[in-house]
Amino acid sequence: MRLLVVGGGITGLAAAWEATRRDEVVEVVLLEASDRLGGKLRTEHEDGVLYEHGPDSFVSYKPAGVQLVKELGLEDQLIRIRGARSVSLRARGRLRPLPQGMGMVLPTRLWPFVTTRILSPLDKVRAALDLVLPRRLTPGRDEAIGTLLRKRLGAGVVHRFADPMVGGIYGASVDDLSLDAVLPSLRADETAHRSLMLAALAQGRKARAAGRGPSSPFATLREGLGSLVDALEEQLGAAGVTVRTGASVERLTPTEAGGVTATLSDGEEVSADAMILAGGVAASARLLADVAPAASVALDAVPLATSTVVNLVYPLSAFPEPPTGQGWLEGEPAPISGVTISSSKWEGRAPEDRVLIRASVPQRLAPAAFAPDDELVSDVTSHLAQVMGIRAAPVATRVMRWRSVMPIYTVGHLDRVATVERALAELPSWRVAGSAVRGVGIPDCIADGRRQAVLALDAARMAGPSASTFDSVPSESERSHA
Ligand SMILES: Cc1cc2nc3c(=O)[nH]c(=O)nc-3n(C[C@H](O)[C@H](O)[C@H](O)COP(=O)(O)OP(=O)(O)OC[C@H]3O[C@@H](n4cnc5c(N)ncnc54)[C@H](O)[C@@H]3O)c2cc1C
Repeated sequence: MRLLVVGGGITGLAAAWEATRRDEVVEVVLLEASDRLGGKLRTEHEDGVLYEHGPDSFVSYKPAGVQLVKELGLEDQLIRIRGARSVSLRARGRLRPLPQGMGMVLPTRLWPFVTTRILSPLDKVRAALDLVLPRRLTPGRDEAIGTLLRKRLGAGVVHRFADPMVGGIYGASVDDLSLDAVLPSLRADETAHRSLMLAALAQGRKARAAGRGPSSPFATLREGLGSLVDALEEQLGAAGVTVRTGASVERLTPTEAGGVTATLSDGEEVSADAMILAGGVAASARLLADVAPAASVALDAVPLATSTVVNLVYPLSAFPEPPTGQGWLEGEPAPISGVTISSSKWEGRAPEDRVLIRASVPQRLAPAAFAPDDELVSDVTSHLAQVMGIRAAPVATRVMRWRSVMPIYTVGHLDRVATVERALAELPSWRVAGSAVRGVGIPDCIADGRRQAVLALDAARMAGPSASTFDSVPSESERSHA
């Protein structure tokens, strides 16, 4: 049984990892177009500073991330944020702490929400209407997260909480993001409790009764998320997986037995019984254009956003007082959507006399987002100086632009995923996985990569052994004879 994995981001690596853990022997080839593995996971170590150029953490309440970390033997590297969670929101002219117990959009504690200065008294009265309003969602009809929240809690909650928090994570406005693909729990909450606020408060009470405090759900690795990629590369190699970088798949052809022959950019061909397409939206759409045009069209309809991460290192002496908070979200016009003070949030990110700050600049903040690097850095540093009172220039800066690679799950996204699945029904051992389709968070990508590997291999097993050959990759026995 041979599995081909196209793309060496976290989805493809997780798919390959799953294949090595099957009872049956699976020969795995992972092909990555660029010269490095990890895709958007990208860590740099320089002068005692740990820069995360892509994601910097993952949520631990979705178990796939922590589980993979444990399977790789990295459990002792897992770290949580330093101290208690302390994130602010810049609203109504200044930084204001997020109310204790605030979830992504809803409060799990009533009093801090009632007393917060982030919302105006009128916004709070409007939000309270949620307690009495009837259900607003139509079963089976997706809508924007912002639409539901506006109907139930009013524009204040959308503008002050939902857009900065959810929009900050997904790089898009809640008025575009799909309820069913991004926050399906809101539909479940409305169905079960009618009021979203009552549902969130009930969940908060339950969590507190079970002894789960207001701790942050985020986790990362001491040496950065790049160490997850390094461990996967090492252990996949040890398990006999062939991992190749600089290997771009350009064309896919179905084999008679239901497998695949992939043609690389240099004309080399690689065949397999099953395949995971984990190269992202654009690559998967392009590769499926001839074989499954409907899947390709559906993938092409997933908008791709650009996002930029600006990392800045300041001397501690540049601050009026050492920063204590872990960062803030912007609820007011600014050249950034939010800031993580990485050296306060995570241990070991910078030397003691340095402060590492990471600012996010989504494309919706255009034109600033598309300014040249020096202009962008200047905009961001002026803004930080104004908000934090910083009195010196950064001693090191890094700008990482992720151009048109952030999939935005807009309304109807799940229908598009269903179209992809229907279009590939005739080729059940070909599976599209990861951030293109079923979740952009790292745990989602890991879970989906693993699940799709199981489905692809099971489908190939049902189809029976094929005559596929690896033209360029020696089999295990060939390797041991060599
Ligand atoms: C700035 C930023 C911050 C983020 N923050 C967080 C966070 O804090 N927490 C979180 O959980 N998630 C976060 N995310 C989201 C998360 O990082 C991504 O959704 C996830 O890493 C995507 O993984 P993937 O493997 O599906 O895709 P990718 O990482 O995009 O990997 C796809 C790989 O396929 C390769 N490829 C493409 N075409 C081909 C081809 N034809 N042949 C061979 N290889 C090909 C590409 O080179 C690439 O390496 C963030 C993303 C960004 C950009």
